Amino acid sequence: MDTTSLEDRRLGEEVIRRFKEAQKRVVTQDKRSNTVHASHITGDCMRRTWYDFREKPESLSVESIANFYVGQILHKNASLGKKNEVHYSANIRTMKPIPTKEINDINRFDCVTGTADDLIEFEGNLIIADKKTWSSLKINYRDGGSYEKREKTEPDSNYITQLNIYKLLIYICDGVEAKKGVLLYLDKATSFKDPLPFVFDLKPIDEIRSIVTDKLNLIRQHIEPDRVITKYCNYCPHKKICDPPKELIPRWS
Ligand code: SF4
Repeated sequence: MDTTSLEDRRLGEEVIRRFKEAQKRVVTQDKRSNTVHASHITGDCMRRTWYDFREKPESLSVESIANFYVGQILHKNASLGKKNEVHYSANIRTMKPIPTKEINDINRFDCVTGTADDLIEFEGNLIIADKKTWSSLKINYRDGGSYEKREKTEPDSNYITQLNIYKLLIYICDGVEAKKGVLLYLDKATSFKDPLPFVFDLKPIDEIRSIVTDKLNLIRQHIEPDRVITKYCNYCPHKKICDPPKELIPRWS
């Protein structure tokens, strides 16, 4: 039997409300400028990014706010070297650096900005590292809240693309060519006890430039690019307006 008094329950609820407000504040204070950020073009669906620049997104779910919050805390407290949270901004068509404040309506879809987590020097080479949170325990809410154990065997392809875009930006802005990227996966279920690194070769500069330019062309065009339906549609902030056929969306696993 719950013996908590009504007054104590109300007090508990008030503290929860204040915590959720604090989470939301941290997540929403990180207002990005109106530029194409590397994370806009890491995924396969440029229709989503096209909407990002033209439509109001649906508000963030409670789960997304909680996830972003953990990510923000982690990034503020886990520098892996002297150079971290380094901001870059470049015109990909001219291959020249450009101050973010000089990006405007005319050159917006020529330029990309991005903030690299950690730049490490290892045995004379520049390495681009990025921390990503995940959970090895999946909660099945429909199944009464049972837990399912998962393993991470390979990095997410979107994150590999993200590090390649950073490589391009660093090459344009600093003239240095990074050879390797490292994605460090941190498991929320074990409080980040066993960091899991995935090390991989980054693509050649010309190849990355061509991928990025193709994506910029798609988001610059006047009509929506085609849908690219993947599991990421489940969390797309423009799902309502895009309205992809539900039966084609793979379940998130
Ligand atoms: S719902 Fe899917 S297909 Fe539509 S814009 Fe979003 S990610 Fe792209």
